[in-house]
Amino acid sequence: MSTNIVMVGAAGRMGSVICRLVVESVDYALMGMVDSKERVGLLSADTCSVADDLAALLPQCPDAVVIDFTAPAVSLHSAEVAARYGNAIVIGTTGFSEAQMGELQHLATKVPLFWSSNMSVGVNVLLKILPELTSALGPDYDIEMVEMHHNRKKDSPSGTALTMGERLAQARGQKLEDVRCSERNGIIGERPKGQIGIQAVRGGDVVGVHTVYFMGAGERIEVSHHAHSRENFARGALRAAAWMTGQKPGRLYTMVDMLG
Ligand code: NAD
Repeated sequence: MSTNIVMVGAAGRMGSVICRLVVESVDYALMGMVDSKERVGLLSADTCSVADDLAALLPQCPDAVVIDFTAPAVSLHSAEVAARYGNAIVIGTTGFSEAQMGELQHLATKVPLFWSSNMSVGVNVLLKILPELTSALGPDYDIEMVEMHHNRKKDSPSGTALTMGERLAQARGQKLEDVRCSERNGIIGERPKGQIGIQAVRGGDVVGVHTVYFMGAGERIEVSHHAHSRENFARGALRAAAWMTGQKPGRLYTMVDMLG
């Protein structure tokens, strides 16, 4: 049986790739596309319903899974609407504040809700091995990260970089907010031991690069993930949507739950 999808942010970079993959696949069916009032005109209503508000569309799609790649406030609204109508929802948006993340966690008690700052299988395997590397190398290795994205990305550092940073800090028994350095300028003195640097580079059409450096005396290890296209994120989101049809509300599901 195919998984029915309603895509929010359908005219966007991620949304358009997801819609194309759904249309090309026999495992998924596109029930609806949603985008803002300004951009909904870019969507063709030939194959499915189109709206500028998820609430106008969802009552006609009772068993569909909503996928949302938009902006934090919009995704929160989508999660509220999905909870109102009982539809599972997969969110890929990044840049949520702590308070907004708390609201998502709360909505996850009402409706099956999945969120991941990075839907790529490769990145999520990396998230598993980074703490192991950190523990094995020990505290004498300085940890730095550089992330690179296209010039239209709105949040910095990327959600993925922050998630990676949290795992690295946890492996050292620290909280990322206590040790993160994302700005160096002027006479800043020696690098404090235990600091985790996360720097962002923006330009062109770079889909996403994350490189973690472990730097010790006389050697350096670099672990790097390069996204070549948006398809790997889109395929991860669709896999999550199919997986979510069997889940119950209770807590925020992530790629870790799906990949085991
Ligand atoms: P984008 O700007 O190309 O697309 C966002 C779309 O949302 C636009 O079409 C915009 O018009 C639409 N939108 C804005 N307001 C809306 C509203 N009120 N209702 C419906 N639609 C609305 O951005 P993008 O590159 O596709 O990225 C979207 C988000 O996904 C960002 O937060 C980005 O960081 C994140 N992202 C996550 C992953 C992942 O794997 N989790 C991968 C890539 C991007």
